[in-house]
Amino acid sequence: MEKNIAVIKGDGIGPEIVTEAMKVLDAIGNKYHHQFNYTEILMGGCSIDAYGVPLSDEALNIAKNSDSVLLGAIGGNTSTSPWYQLEPSLRPEAGLLKIRKELGLFANLRPAYLYDELKGACPLKEELTEGGFDMMIMRELTGGLYFGKRSTQEEDGQLVARDAMSYSETEIRRIAKRGFDIAMKRRKKVTSVDKANVLDTSRLWRKVIEEVAQDYPEVTYEHMLVDNCAMQLVRDPKQFDVILTENMFGDILSDEASMVTGSIGMLSSASLREDKFGMYEPSHGSAPDIAGQNIANPIATILSAAMMLRYSFDLDQEAKDIEDAIEKVLKEGYRTTDIMSEGKKLVGTKEMGDLIVSHL
Ligand code: NAD
Repeated sequence: MEKNIAVIKGDGIGPEIVTEAMKVLDAIGNKYHHQFNYTEILMGGCSIDAYGVPLSDEALNIAKNSDSVLLGAIGGNTSTSPWYQLEPSLRPEAGLLKIRKELGLFANLRPAYLYDELKGACPLKEELTEGGFDMMIMRELTGGLYFGKRSTQEEDGQLVARDAMSYSETEIRRIAKRGFDIAMKRRKKVTSVDKANVLDTSRLWRKVIEEVAQDYPEVTYEHMLVDNCAMQLVRDPKQFDVILTENMFGDILSDEASMVTGSIGMLSSASLREDKFGMYEPSHGSAPDIAGQNIANPIATILSAAMMLRYSFDLDQEAKDIEDAIEKVLKEGYRTTDIMSEGKKLVGTKEMGDLIVSHL
């Protein structure tokens, strides 16, 4: 198989972790005789420095014409970086919002999985996580509050800011179908999260979920209010299989779920559209505090590359090989600083990538 991958290394630790993921993809390519062709493009702060915009039209076109996109992370220190003195539409994150919208990536998948070897890093009491947990947060990505009309204006002598939240039935239906499809391949349970006791968008969300659920009689589903879900994630994370929710709730809940697994450096993510195309990136940011020191954990990005193989290229065995190699390396006791514990062997970003390659 031959595939063209647009690679966005981005800012901060992005270049270090993406380099390791490419190393792993190449090793899997060698093993199974696949050819992965990479075209590097700029996005985020590095693109602002080079072209004055967080995502150029040329870069966007390369991404559009590829089979999938592998992304590290973008952005700098939001308090000190000059990128954040720019108007919002020119800041690094504007590139990310634009590429998601332009590529039609409306569904974000974030697994939150507790590795047996890392259960000590989980901040919850052991009795709550006995036997591990394995959930998938599916977040709507291109609608809702983050894409609504916004304004700040003076009224009666003071500034008043507004952000509009809207969802159409079509937007809700397509993400709901994706969520139920994913549940069919897992433990067949969907928890749809909303705030239907207050918001109209949530009441419409609930109505459409009910309709879509009729087409999936094997899937058990429930509705949960977002505030309750935030509590349940730390009270009983094992109850969840697929959590299906809108953009802002998903943004917050997926970070909370990441924290519950103990390490943000281990969490992959995929953004999908209706066909096989997807953009794959770690759940964490660009970690400017540790950039360039060869200490970042590359596993989230490597797991994201494995998701690319599974969801975009249908290479399930190849994806599983990568996941198994990671488990083996963890079992042998190798750790980057973020997941380090007593008695384990500390390794850097590059060594972790090499160890994973050596187990393929
Ligand atoms: P962050 O995820 O970058 O970092 C949070 C903490 O986790 C830091 O202490 C960091 O050192 C640590 N960390 C993150 N990834 C790690 C890894 N792989 N290995 C070891 N430690 C890791 O979040 P932040 O500090 O809030 O944001 C930094 C920048 O990243 C900001 O500009 C933010 O806007 C941006 N950001 C980008 C994305 C993206 O590109 N998709 C997502 C989130 C944040």
